[in-house]
Amino acid sequence: MHDYVVIGGGIIGVSTAWQLQQRRPNSSILLIEKESEFAQHQSGRNSGVVHAGIYYMPGSLKARFCKLGVEKTMSFCRENNVAIEQCGKLIVATNKVEHERMLALYDRASENGLEVELLSSAMLKAREPNVEGSGAIFLRTTGIVDYPDMTRKMATAFCDLGGQARLNSTVVGINETDNMVDIRLADGAHIEAKHLVVCAGLMADRLAIMQGLDIDFQIIPYRGEYYQLPPDKNNIVKHLIYPVPNPLLPFLGIHLTRMIDGSVTIGPNALQGYKREGYGRLNFSVVDTLAMMSFPGFWNALRKNLRFGLRELWNSIWKYGYLKQVNKYCPSITIGDLKPYRTGVRAMAVRRDGSLIDDFLTIDSPRTLHVCNAPSPAATSAIPIGDHICDKILRE
Ligand SMILES: Cc1cc2nc3c(=O)[nH]c(=O)nc-3n(C[C@H](O)[C@H](O)[C@H](O)COP(=O)(O)OP(=O)(O)OC[C@H]3O[C@@H](n4cnc5c(N)ncnc54)[C@H](O)[C@@H]3O)c2cc1C
Repeated sequence: MHDYVVIGGGIIGVSTAWQLQQRRPNSSILLIEKESEFAQHQSGRNSGVVHAGIYYMPGSLKARFCKLGVEKTMSFCRENNVAIEQCGKLIVATNKVEHERMLALYDRASENGLEVELLSSAMLKAREPNVEGSGAIFLRTTGIVDYPDMTRKMATAFCDLGGQARLNSTVVGINETDNMVDIRLADGAHIEAKHLVVCAGLMADRLAIMQGLDIDFQIIPYRGEYYQLPPDKNNIVKHLIYPVPNPLLPFLGIHLTRMIDGSVTIGPNALQGYKREGYGRLNFSVVDTLAMMSFPGFWNALRKNLRFGLRELWNSIWKYGYLKQVNKYCPSITIGDLKPYRTGVRAMAVRRDGSLIDDFLTIDSPRTLHVCNAPSPAATSAIPIGDHICDKILRE
């Protein structure tokens, strides 16, 4: 019998297992992941940005974990030789509405205790000659990192401390009794644990239901398509360039991201997904789609965001529409510059009324804890989130 089992080899599960092993060095801890490598889903298919924490509701767990996450991520990566760079980010306003929203965001930055600079149009042009806007917010602490490598290094650190990792193992059953938790794998094996932590990302609701927990949300997948610029455009910007987000939407908008490998990506958009862990444009799962369509929250969310959803779909089909969004602030990018790049799928936890669960969310039972919602910037916040989960499971 293991003292603790953690399900999920994304950045949250691995960070939790690693910190649990540090805090309980004599405990037997097992990390279970269904893929053959760590960080194969959200943690390995994101923008690779270490967010500063400007967007989030002051006082929320998201805001708290993100601010702390920047420091923790920087020091972990520097100590463990993971590629990371604090290149800074500009949030650029391109019209009057965006300018107003940008000023509101500037106020939020100080409420969140962040040091930011407000730039005029001329100051923006001086810093980024290829970018245009009526003004911008400059965030010095935003960075870029190799999240898959960070996840792998945390997994290595976990195993070096005595933890065990079991890849290629899909959990298909969870049964909690008074004395233990029985975890059944697809190959028929049973694993016993005194305590269980589940960090299953896009499958979070399925594993909670598998255990018989009563939940009032469903994970709805949103695909994010990216493009990559050709290598001769790798120096088009020095910072990360983001549009001013629409506060009514949970997405940050198509941004220009310098990646840690030196390339530059554009994206992601936000499209309805029809397969939770499906990355191709035509990927479709009957099970996932039927589950979604029989959930009232899906239809309620669709109704609320119909115009936005249709626009995203149109811009996905019509590449010029996609380009237009980035040309608003970076006019020199052309249609020929949009080279195919990988997609990612975000796990959005949606309630029955169609509202999105915005903050980090866990639910627990006497012997288990499930991470139900760990949206962006959860990769940035992975170390503080893991620490918070340890506090909860160890009741400290
Ligand atoms: C397009 C996109 C862009 C993003 N950009 C950023 C960004 O720039 N910065 C940032 O901070 N955040 C970003 N995020 C958010 C961030 O990537 C996620 O919040 C974070 O990776 C969540 O980590 P996780 O471990 O919870 O989930 P995941 O990485 O999805 O891991 C869950 C793991 O559980 C495993 N699993 C599921 N079911 C089972 C089962 N039955 N048995 C065994 N294993 C199972 C899966 O295989 C998977 O490996 C982005 C996300 C996306 C999708």
